[in-house]
Amino acid sequence: MKCFECGVGKMSTNSDAYRYYESGLPNVILHGVTVHRCKECGAEYVSIPDLEGLHRTLALAIISQDGRLSPAEVRYLRKTLGWSGADFARKFHVTQSAVSRWESERATTRMSKANELLLRDMVARGKKIEDYDKLMEDIALEAAAAAISFKLVHERDGWNMAQAA
Ligand SMILES: [Zn+2]
Repeated sequence: MKCFECGVGKMSTNSDAYRYYESGLPNVILHGVTVHRCKECGAEYVSIPDLEGLHRTLALAIISQDGRLSPAEVRYLRKTLGWSGADFARKFHVTQSAVSRWESERATTRMSKANELLLRDMVARGKKIEDYDKLMEDIALEAAAAAISFKLVHERDGWNMAQAA
């Protein structure tokens, strides 16, 4: 196999570890993938099986970490959901420049904890954007249904929750 980059080098093929920089995350290493390397120019090509499964597993690993999400992780999760920056802004009711700041290593503004939790929840549910509006409707319905079950009684000492029948 000739190198696609320089056209002259011979490609070596190895099962190897590969730093998955295409993810946009600094420290993702894939083990046991097929890596082709040009002996002439050093170009690398990698064959990654089941990309969808990889992205899903990685996304779940990110959201199960303690601590705040890094800007690179926010960007990665947003892409996992299939959202553009504009989609992200619209769904979270913020401006596109706010989204840019959330995803920028240089910016000092981070997502609020509440928004971070929502993003983690969206990823955990594996929702794509087309499901999102439906999900929000469901949440609104659940909230409305839940609200009906709060029964309050005004008594001598003030408002109290009614005892369940
Ligand atoms: Zn080459």
